[in-house]
Amino acid sequence: MSQPLHSMSFDVEEWFQVANHSRACPRERWDEFESRVEPAMGRILDLLERRDCRATMFFLGWIAERHPDLVRRCLDAGHEIASHGYDHRFLGELGPDGLHADLQRTEEALAAAGAPKPRGFRASTFTLNRDTWWAFDVLLERGYTYDSSVHPIRHPTYGVPGFEPAISRVDLDGGSMVEFPVSTFPLLGRNWPVGGGGYFRLLPGSLQRRLIAGLERRGRATATYLHPWEFDPEQPLVKASLSKRFRHRVGLGRTLDRLDAFLERFPCESMESVLVRSGFLDK
Ligand SMILES: [Zn+2]
Repeated sequence: MSQPLHSMSFDVEEWFQVANHSRACPRERWDEFESRVEPAMGRILDLLERRDCRATMFFLGWIAERHPDLVRRCLDAGHEIASHGYDHRFLGELGPDGLHADLQRTEEALAAAGAPKPRGFRASTFTLNRDTWWAFDVLLERGYTYDSSVHPIRHPTYGVPGFEPAISRVDLDGGSMVEFPVSTFPLLGRNWPVGGGGYFRLLPGSLQRRLIAGLERRGRATATYLHPWEFDPEQPLVKASLSKRFRHRVGLGRTLDRLDAFLERFPCESMESVLVRSGFLDK
């Protein structure tokens, strides 16, 4: 059997930039909130170092502008720097021209911090769906080689249910783009999210590891992702509906131990590295 391939990635954003908080923390007030991304990333980077894991960091351009030292710290530790867009707008809100401008601004912020041009992109809140398929053409035009924005699940606000859950190539007029979706597990004719975020904290750790092991047995490269605010149980409480608050805060105090146990069982590497080793990208 070929060697199992597991990727780990982080969407580098602040606690107040989550889509669920958009009402209480509007974009025009972001600079007023307490920045907590550096200490949270510090915890993550220390653990990754200890586990000898190189991951992919999908930076918001907004963060890279304000925290160039954090970008450099990730680079120096050997992590891949990729783009999460500038300020977490949904693709449907940006439109094709807006996405061009958003990506350019993010590329400039990353370059100013010393990072090479990103090869990978992940849209805010998995907003690449059938209605925003044009985003692939924009990414291709701007020289990106892979995307991780499609979530092949059924969900009220995002997802492309019939989409190939393994790494695949999306054919476009001008060429093709590699898609590496966050991991899902097939059960009862549907794909269930297992690759991170709230699900990483919500599912019992042993069950989540069993599901990822199931994907490993199927020979599927996996993609797990988390956010720095998921490692920050002390973050301020934000006014939101009870269900949104629950999803945001469940298990925050044990994410670090969870990730440690996960990395012990599944040695992870960056998305770029998995894509190169599986033959989808050139070195
Ligand atoms: Zn995000």
